[in-house]
Amino acid sequence: MRLADKVTLITGAGSGIGRSTALRFAKEGAKVVVVDLSDEHGRATVDAIRENGGDATFIFADVTKWDDATEMAREAVARYGRIDVLFNNAGISGVGAVHETSEELWDKVVDVNLKGVFLVSKAVLPDMMARKQGNIINMSSCIAEIGLMRRAVYSATKGAVLALTKSMQVDYAPYNIRVNALLPGTILTPFVEDYLKNSYDDPDAAINTIKQRQLSGELGRPENVAEAALFLASDESKFVMGSPLYVDGGVVFGKMA
Ligand code: NAP
Repeated sequence: MRLADKVTLITGAGSGIGRSTALRFAKEGAKVVVVDLSDEHGRATVDAIRENGGDATFIFADVTKWDDATEMAREAVARYGRIDVLFNNAGISGVGAVHETSEELWDKVVDVNLKGVFLVSKAVLPDMMARKQGNIINMSSCIAEIGLMRRAVYSATKGAVLALTKSMQVDYAPYNIRVNALLPGTILTPFVEDYLKNSYDDPDAAINTIKQRQLSGELGRPENVAEAALFLASDESKFVMGSPLYVDGGVVFGKMA
């Protein structure tokens, strides 16, 4: 029980990495606040946790809305008394080089992937600061470190999240709050399936190309990222602060001969 009695809040926990992490955290004894845009998906995550004897509750929130973020934080604290771990996971894809990216797409991706991290953190931090205890995990991506084709706005947001993580760590270390970032490689989730469909004529061929750039030879699975999130959420990582944790099958630091 590596998260016994910890209250954890995960945004975008109705799908993919967020859902997998919610299930993993619950298995380790955490109480899980499942936040999502979709009632149906969020409640399905909660049901799956409860079926296994875990404790979870669903709160609807759009991370791009300040009112939703504050209400979400208020409801979570009313239900469980505090938030020990915040996982800013919700995110969307955005395909295109700069000249192909509409202003509308730019604003939408920045709103969810970057402003969402800001708003939810801003809503949750006062409780953590008052208790002088907290742990925040921000979802970046290995794309913050490497160039990939036609991912202009997405990579801009994930690079900014990594920079924000370091800045937050400096500001909140005096409050005994750790802030770290996860940098996954390509993980097979609905998000990646959408990206493949929107970007390539032949998604299966694209998967093979992506596999080849990974030293692992395989795409990652949501569970791989959930295990890394568990490490950051637990006290096992108590000396890890302001760090990027790569979960990328060797894409960033590996190089094929
Ligand atoms: P996913 O399966 O699409 O899950 C994302 C979740 O976020 C969905 O449940 C979605 O809800 C929710 N969401 C989207 N916009 C939201 C908003 N405004 N407010 C609240 N919730 C919102 O994606 P995933 O692959 O698990 O990705 C999770 C995170 O990991 C993202 O930040 C992504 O950028 C990052 N990441 C993913 C990969 C990868 O290869 N999969 C790699 C690196 C980083 P709806 O379904 O209802 O829209």
